[in-house]
Amino acid sequence: MLQLKAPSLLRQQSYVDGVWCDADNKETIVVTNPATGEVIGTVPKMGRTETKRAIEAANKAWPQWRRKTAKERSIILRKWNDLMLANADDLALIMTSEQGKPLAEAKGEIAYAASFIEWFAEEGKRAGGDTIPSPSPNTRIVIVKEPIGVCVAITPWNFPAAMITRKVGPALAAGCTMVLKPAELTPFSALALAVLAERAGVPGGVFSVVTGASREIGAEMTSNPLVRKLSFTGSTGVGRLLMEQCAPTIKKLSLELGGNAPFIVFDDADLDAAVEGAIASKYRNAGQTCVCANRLYIHDSVYDAFAEKLVAAVAKMQVGNGLNAGVTQGPMIELKAVEKVEEHIADAVAKGARILIGGKRHALGHTFFEPTVLADVTASMLVAKEETFGPMAPLFRFKTDDEVLALANDTEFGLASYFYSRDIGRIWRIAEGLESGMVGINTGMISNEVAPFGGVKQSGLGREGSHYGIDDYQVIKYLCMGGL
Ligand code: ADP
Repeated sequence: MLQLKAPSLLRQQSYVDGVWCDADNKETIVVTNPATGEVIGTVPKMGRTETKRAIEAANKAWPQWRRKTAKERSIILRKWNDLMLANADDLALIMTSEQGKPLAEAKGEIAYAASFIEWFAEEGKRAGGDTIPSPSPNTRIVIVKEPIGVCVAITPWNFPAAMITRKVGPALAAGCTMVLKPAELTPFSALALAVLAERAGVPGGVFSVVTGASREIGAEMTSNPLVRKLSFTGSTGVGRLLMEQCAPTIKKLSLELGGNAPFIVFDDADLDAAVEGAIASKYRNAGQTCVCANRLYIHDSVYDAFAEKLVAAVAKMQVGNGLNAGVTQGPMIELKAVEKVEEHIADAVAKGARILIGGKRHALGHTFFEPTVLADVTASMLVAKEETFGPMAPLFRFKTDDEVLALANDTEFGLASYFYSRDIGRIWRIAEGLESGMVGINTGMISNEVAPFGGVKQSGLGREGSHYGIDDYQVIKYLCMGGL
C-alpha cells in the first residue's frame, strides 16, 4: 500500500454522477507499478452501460452548471486547483507509483496540471462574445459564446494528471460537463483528481470518471448523440478511429496525436545549450512524451563535438525507481514500449548506425532501459519515420539549411519541432519553414498553461491551454436583432 498522507486519495472505484461505484458486473482491472511489478490496486472495468449512465448524468447536470455565472464556476475551479497543490506530495506519489516517472517530475506535473485549472478558472470569466457593425441600419449583430454541451475525454498514461486538467479545466470553465476515461495503466491519478473535484464542490454529474475497457467506453462516448464533443490525447491511429466513430453524429473534436519532432542543431548554435535542451526534450519521462525530440539533425561541422557532449551528459543520467532520490529516468511504461525502442535500435544498427552509449535493457530489469545515443542515422531507418517514444536519441547529419528543412518536414506529423541557432535571419526562416504547431527556438521545453499546445498535419486538431484553449469547448451563436 502507498504511504499517503491522505489515504482517501487512492480510490479504487469509478466516480459516476457524483457516486463512487463499481462496474455493474463487478469486474476489475489490476494496476501495477512499472518499477517493481507490484500490484497497487484495482479499478472497475466498466463498459458501455456505465458510460451511458455517466453521459446521461452529465446531460442532466448541464443546465444547472451552465446557468451558474462564470465567476461561480471559477470559484469552484480555483478551489480544485488549491486542493491539487495542497495534496501535491500524495498526487505525485500516486503518479510515480503507477506511471514510473521520477518523483520530482511527477511533482512538476501536478503543478503543471493544476495550472490549467487555475488558468481556465480565470479565462472562463473572459470568454465572452462580441458585436459586429451591421451592414443595415435597422439591424444589430451580436455574437454570444455558449458552452457546447456534454463533452467526453480520453486520456493517455504519459501525463496522468495534466492531460486531464487541460481538457476538464476549459470544459468546466466554459459551462460544459465532462465524462473522462483515463488510461487503463494510470487510473489512480485521475480518480484522485476526482476526489479533489468533489471536495472542491464540483456538483455530481458535472465531472465523472469512468475506468475500464477502452473499446466499449470509447464506442459509447463516440456514438451517444448526447455527447457534443470529444477531446482525445493519444496515438494517431486511435485518434483516426475515434474521428471515424464520431462522424455519424458530427461531434466537435480536439485531437492531440502523435509527433515526430525534429531537433536541429545548426553550426552557429551554442552547443552546451543545445545538449541541455536535447536532454530535457529527449529523455524527460523516459522519452515518452509526444513532444519529445525524435530525430536530432546535427550540422556536419559540429556533429562530432555535439555527439561527444551529449554522450557525456547521458552518461550522468541515473536510471532507477522514480521514488529514489537522484533518479532522473524511471522505467518505461510497459514491455511493449521497450520492444519498440529495441526494434528501432536494431533496425538502425542493421542499416549502419553506431551505438555511442546505451542500446539495451537496463541491468535493473523490469522495463528499465539504458538512455541511448545512436550516430550515423539516416533517412532510410525506421526511426526517421516513426515516433520511438523511448530514451533513444538518433543523430542525423546535415549540411545545408534547405536540406535539413526538407528532412524535418518529411513526415505526416507536425506537433513540435526544435532548433538551435543564434542567427536572427536563419531563426525566422527556419521557424516559418517548419511544418509544426509549436517551435522551440534555443529551448527544449515549450509547454505551459498560457501557450497554445497542439499540432498541424496528422498530429491533430485544436489547441489546449492559452486563451485559445477555451474555444474548443464553446460554440458561437449569432443574434441578428432586426426591426429597430
Ligand atoms: P498511447 O500510445 O498513449 O497508449 P493510445 O492511443 O493507445 O495511446 O491510448 C490513449 C488512450 O486511448 C488510452 O486511454 C486508451 O485506453 C484509449 N484507447 C485506446 N484504444 C481505444 C479505442 N479503440 N477506443 C477508445 N479509446 C481507446
